[in-house]
Amino acid sequence: MDFSRIDWRILGCSAAVPAPNQYPSAQSLRVGGTLLLLDCGEGTQIRIREVGLRGASFDVVLITHLHGDHVFGLPGLLSSWTLQGRVKPLVVVGPRGLPDFLHGINAATEGSWSYPVQFVPAEHGCVLENDDVRILAHPLNHRIEAWGYLVEERVAPRSVDYEAAVAAGLEHADFRSLQLGLDATTRGGHRVPNASVTVPGRHGFRMAYLTDTRYEPALADFAQGVDYMYHESTFLARHQALAEKTGHSTAREAGLVAASAGAGCLVLGHFSQRYARLADFAAEASAVYSGRILVGQSGLNPLAAAE
Ligand SMILES: [Zn+2]
Repeated sequence: MDFSRIDWRILGCSAAVPAPNQYPSAQSLRVGGTLLLLDCGEGTQIRIREVGLRGASFDVVLITHLHGDHVFGLPGLLSSWTLQGRVKPLVVVGPRGLPDFLHGINAATEGSWSYPVQFVPAEHGCVLENDDVRILAHPLNHRIEAWGYLVEERVAPRSVDYEAAVAAGLEHADFRSLQLGLDATTRGGHRVPNASVTVPGRHGFRMAYLTDTRYEPALADFAQGVDYMYHESTFLARHQALAEKTGHSTAREAGLVAASAGAGCLVLGHFSQRYARLADFAAEASAVYSGRILVGQSGLNPLAAAE
C-alpha cells in the first residue's frame, strides 16, 4: 500500500504521571499537507522537538478528553507558538469543556494567542474535512466525556490512465473530473466513458485513535477495516476489575476490538506504570487478534515498524 503521504509518530503513550522516557499521550500525524496532533499530554512540546518536528506547523489538534495526561501539554504548546510568532490559524477539536479550560488559563495568566484558534466541539460523525483528510468522531466509554477519532486520507476515487486518456483525445484539464469518476467529452464533442480511461484509485490510509475507553464493542463498527488501530490497553486481563472501575481497557479487550474491526495492525498504548514487561500486552492481545501488533512507545513510527 502506498502510504507515502503519511508520517506518524508516537510522542508519548504512558498513562497518568509523566516520568523520564514515559511521556503521556500525544501523537503527530501528517496526512499530505495537513499536520495533526492527537492529544497533548505534559511534555509534548519537548517530544515534538526531540523527534525532529521542531518548527513544524500543526494545522489541527484533536483532543480525546480532558484528563490531564491527555491535555496538560496543550496550554504550554499554544503559548510557545505565540512566543514563536505563529500567525497561521489553528483548529482544535475536542470535548465541550476544552475552550473553557484553555481560555481559563489565558485569563489567569493574562495570556493570549498570536493566531486565530477555531474550536470545533467533537460530536458523533464528521468533525473536519479538507483536501487531505476526513476526520470522524465517536463517543468513547470513559469516566468523563471522551471521543475516539477516525482519520481517513482523502484520495481520488479513480486514477487516470494517462496514455489511454490522451489516446482518446482528452487533455490534462479533463483529468480532475476523471479522477472523480465523471465521463469526459473531447474538444471534438466525442464522449469518453470514465471507465475506459481510468482505473480504481489507490487505497487511502485510515487509522483509528481510541483512548481512553472501557471495552466498547461498538468501536469496531466505527473503525471497521482500518489499516491501523491505536487502542489503549492500560491494564492486563488479571486487572480486569480495575479496568472496569477506572474506565479503561485490558490488552485482551483491545485485541477483541481490533479483531472485530478487521484492523490491519493494532498499536497498543497508555500502559499503566505498574507493569515491567510491555511484551505481556502484545502476548495477551495476540490470543484474540491475529493481525500485526505493535507495542506503543515514545518515538515509535508505526508505519516503519510495521513494514
Ligand atoms: Zn482518561
